[in-house]
This record gives sequence, C-alpha cells and structure tokens, in this order.
Amino acid sequence: MQSYQEMSREELLKEKESLEQQYKEICKKGLKLDMSRGKPSKEQLELSMPMMDVLTSKTPLVSRAGTDIRNYGVIDGITEGQEFIASLVGLGPEAYDNVIVYGNASLNIMYDCIARSMLFGVNGSTPWCKLDKVKWLCPVPGYDRHFAITECFGIEMINVPLYEDGPDMDMVEKLVSEDDSIKGIWCVPKYSNPMGTSYSDETVRRLARLKPAAEDFRIYWDNAYCVHDLYEDKADQILEILGECEKAGNPNLPIEFCSTSKITFSGAGVSGLITSLENKADILKRLTIQTIGFDKINQLRHVKFLKDIDGVKAHMAKHAAIIRPKFEMILDRFEEELKGLGAGSWIRPNGGYFITFKANEGCAKNIVAKAKEAGVVLTGAGAPYPYKKDPKDSVIRIAPTLPPMEELKEACEVFIVCAKLASVEKLLE
Ligand code: PLP
Repeated sequence: MQSYQEMSREELLKEKESLEQQYKEICKKGLKLDMSRGKPSKEQLELSMPMMDVLTSKTPLVSRAGTDIRNYGVIDGITEGQEFIASLVGLGPEAYDNVIVYGNASLNIMYDCIARSMLFGVNGSTPWCKLDKVKWLCPVPGYDRHFAITECFGIEMINVPLYEDGPDMDMVEKLVSEDDSIKGIWCVPKYSNPMGTSYSDETVRRLARLKPAAEDFRIYWDNAYCVHDLYEDKADQILEILGECEKAGNPNLPIEFCSTSKITFSGAGVSGLITSLENKADILKRLTIQTIGFDKINQLRHVKFLKDIDGVKAHMAKHAAIIRPKFEMILDRFEEELKGLGAGSWIRPNGGYFITFKANEGCAKNIVAKAKEAGVVLTGAGAPYPYKKDPKDSVIRIAPTLPPMEELKEACEVFIVCAKLASVEKLLE
C-alpha cells in the first residue's frame, strides 16, 4: 500500500475527494454512536447478577471472625474481604493486614489520599497545602480522572512520556531525586488507561528503588486492570510492587489501589487500598474520623460470589469472551484499512479497556470533531493529558466495551474514514 506521505499532491487531492464523498454518505445516516466511555456493557453486567442471590434474608450476616456485618465497625474490612483484595493484586496471607477494604470506587480512595495529604501531610510531614508548590509526575498518555484529581488540588502536573514498558525512568529518577516538591506519580502498571501496555520488571524495580528527595513522595499504584486479561495464553504479568519496594528498603513508597468495578458492578463493587503498615496506620488515623466503616455486606457478597482468585479468573474469562471480539474487530479493521497508510498507529493490547490510536501530529482534534459530526462520540482529544493538553494533538482513546457489536462496527468505519480524511487534510495544508 502506498502511504499518504508517499503520494503526490494530485494523488492526495484525489484521495481527499473520494474520502469526502464517503464522509458525506456516512453523515447522511444520522448515526448516534458512542465509543467514548470505558464502561462494561449490559451483557457484562449481567454476568454478575447471580451475586444478588448469594445473600438472602436467611443468610447469617456474620463474618468469619464472628462480627455482625450489618452493624457499624471493622473499618479496614472483614478478613475475608482483605484476603480477597490482596489476592486480586497477587498478594498472599503475608499482606492481608496491609489492606483497607473501602466502598465501591477506588477513584474515591485516591482522591481521599491526596486530600488527606494536602490537609494533614503524610506520616507526620508538613501538610502539602502549607507548601509553596506541590508537583506530581504524570506518565502520558494517562487516565483523565487521575489528572482531574491532581488538577483540582492545584498540584502542578509534569508530563513524563509513557513507553511500552512504562514511564521514562531516566526522567522519573532524575526529577524525583532533585526536586522535593514532587510528591507523587500516577501509575497504572497493567494494561494502562489508555495505552493498554504494562510495566516491565525493570521499570517496576527502578520505581521501587527510587530515592526521592521528598520523604513524603508516594507511588500511586492504580492496579485497576489487575485481572483484566483478554487472552488466557498471553496475559501480561507485572512484578508485585509492595514486595519490590520492601526489598529495596522503601516499604512506605507505594500505595496500591484496585476495585471490582470492572469485575462485578461498576457502580456497586468493592475497592481496596494496600500499603505498608506504617502508611496504613497514618491513613486510619484520619479515616476513623471520616467513617465508622464501609459496606461489609457487599464485601461478603463479593467473596461468596467470586470465592477466590481462581473464581475471579473464571469470571474474568467470561468478560473476555464478550469484549475480546470487540477489540479484535477494531484492531483487525485498523490493520486492513490503515496499516502502512501513514494515517496513524495503534497498539494491540492483551487486556484492559482501551485502544490508543496515535494519529499524525495535529490530527486528533480534527478526527474527534469529524466523528462527532458524523454521529460518533469519541473521548475528547487531549483528555489523556494533564490540563487536557496533548502537545502533539495526536492521541485518541478508543473504548470498545460498551456499545453492542453492530454499533461498534459502524462507529469503527466512521472512525477510519475520519482518520484518513484528517491525515490527508493535514498533508495538504
Ligand atoms: N483507575 C483507572 C486506571 C481506570 O481506568 C478507572 C476507570 O476507568 C478507574 C480507576 C476507576 O475505578 P473505580 O471504579 O474503582 O473508581
């Protein structure tokens, strides 16, 4: 296939005319499609409906330790809930005590951790709100809601390139060791949002061995896609961060987050935080003021339904069977229509919820706008960057899970035409 870059101006003009014709036809269809949201589909949510039957009015609502889980208390979660959360992120009995099981949203925990650090500091450090400047490292492209949290607290965000094996570690090491106003880094180590790539062992080890200038620097390890493999035989494996930090003599460095939002119900799952006992004690000091305890009945419901990590894996295989064809359809169409054309590139992820399309520089906004006009909503261009500013106007996040397959197919065709047209327009500028 001849790439757009190799075409003469005349050839490009001819291609543009043909694409404009296709685009016009698409616009006439009056489509109303949405590829913007990383939500499970209805079919996926149905998989967890039997969970609603594991507890009945006859079930003794008593935890293994004998607590009446209908009542107040047990702020860090029932033991079986702690075991469950630890097992999700690959930890065993040695770490059960390091867990706090929260309510339904891990994002809420992350917000809370930053709010607490702003107001009260970290393990006795100066509250961040009293400092002249607080900065945060943001591997990009990344998760827009992470960036929204740091932005809303006035924390200055620094872009760090995210490569296929993790963040640019030379840059991270240098910045963190030199600047004590840098207090943290957002990390999505497995099937990152939106790249779908995972950190290499070397990256995890280098993060664990960081020598931050700030004592209260923390790695925010958002393991949101810890069990979200698309393929049983080629699942990404990441090193377990708590153990690596402990080995490196940095036990307080990581705070890990996870949830069942994309295992059971996005609006009614359980989430958890895993960290050193010292960090946990500091967190509990404030958390016990905030609440007398989270929903323990939902913790028990989850444990009874999913049982253990093998139960989770079997359940996730059912999710994969639903979403894998959606990912593959899009990626196959990209290969058929865009490979070698010079209209952008993409990565084939082994799991997670997203596909990242890297358009030619200066084309992302145009593609998203064109798709919108044709009735297909995409995540806003710029969203995967702090302050919504993609310096190259290139990254588009595609979320294949929510729409039914037939809609997704139509949306994908629209996307392809828009990506081609925007590339040709750019070259003709
Ligand atoms: N972290 C990442 C990286 C995500 O992609 C998402 C949702 O898309 C979340 C966290 C939200 O998690 P929760 O539903 O547990 O708040």
